[in-house]
Amino acid sequence: MKTKQIVTNLSPYVPGKTIEEVKEAFGLERIVKLASNENPFGCSSYVKKGLQDALDNLELYPDGYAREIRQKLSKRLQVKEEQLMFGNGSDEIMLIICRAFLEQGTNTVMATPTFPQYKHNALIEGAEVREVPLVDGTHDLQAMLNQIDENTRVVWICNPNNPTGTIITQQQLDHFMQQCPEDVLVVMDEAYYEYVTDMEFPDSLKALPSYRNMIITRTFSKAYGLAALRIGYAIAHESIIKSLEPCREPFNTSVIAHRAAMLALDDEAFIKETSKQTEQIKQAVIAFCERQGLRYFPTQTNFILIHLPITGDEMAEYLLRNGFIVRSGEAIGIPNSIRLTIGNKQDMEEFMQVMEQKLLEDSHV
Ligand SMILES: *Cc1c(COP(=O)(O)O)cnc(C)c1O
Repeated sequence: MKTKQIVTNLSPYVPGKTIEEVKEAFGLERIVKLASNENPFGCSSYVKKGLQDALDNLELYPDGYAREIRQKLSKRLQVKEEQLMFGNGSDEIMLIICRAFLEQGTNTVMATPTFPQYKHNALIEGAEVREVPLVDGTHDLQAMLNQIDENTRVVWICNPNNPTGTIITQQQLDHFMQQCPEDVLVVMDEAYYEYVTDMEFPDSLKALPSYRNMIITRTFSKAYGLAALRIGYAIAHESIIKSLEPCREPFNTSVIAHRAAMLALDDEAFIKETSKQTEQIKQAVIAFCERQGLRYFPTQTNFILIHLPITGDEMAEYLLRNGFIVRSGEAIGIPNSIRLTIGNKQDMEEFMQVMEQKLLEDSHV
């Protein structure tokens, strides 16, 4: 049998190690996962209390239109219901965008390194991928504009960017949108939206009516703490959503995910507390980096990319043996670094001790 040619050259996504895997491999009791930017505070207590209702009629398909959550979110965001699309995680929204817009003979422009799913899905659709290196960990928007030609269909802006945590500002976005051809779709991936504190961060939702070729993606996986349930969404002009709809599976998001997202939206205090705590603990990690003389990217997310005097692989391996799972920079395109999710206070204090120990050992050899 023969797959598409491109698929023979692609590898499946390799997720960070699971807690169970690491426990088994190293015989450890307690493992802290700081590799996938999940919320260390879990999710809103409303979700666990209210989710039972969703288990009553498991024989029935979900509402493919996701009416309940759609209505709630459209009110919350002050957009029309037809301006929303839900996905099995925002990952699936990326896939749907690629299915709808890309094919052989087209190209798509993105930063590198950035969130890997844009490239992966674009390649499967047979599109040419044009990657523009980050400058100081930030999107080089001018160089990205220079890559756009008549065959460009989609441009991806990960804001804040994963794996660096940096942002582009309102002014930079406006300048970019004014130069970008109107028939090129601009994806604003705002997976870490709830964590951003920088006043210069674009109000993309407010800009949406002016930029009809923009689509914003957000998720319940990160600050809302519902990664297990897989639900994210897109916001765009209704004509864009309409053009994507044929590429969405009819029942792509589950009843349980709908219900959990509804409940999570009711608990704004949880999101506030999550971002407040994360910010405080992040400042402690930043102070640690300063003391250790480690460079890092200024981050607006719940993770931080830290440069090291050794390889990311070596540091990640050492941390793993001590019960901390992090992402090695070698695996994400920034050698001699690690990407660390900001965990809870106690875990991060222990983490910093372990990391300090390793840095100390290395400075003696
Ligand atoms: C985590 C992440 C996503 C994907 O989240 P879903 O769980 O699929 O909603 C999308 N974009 C970025 C930049 C991410 O880090």
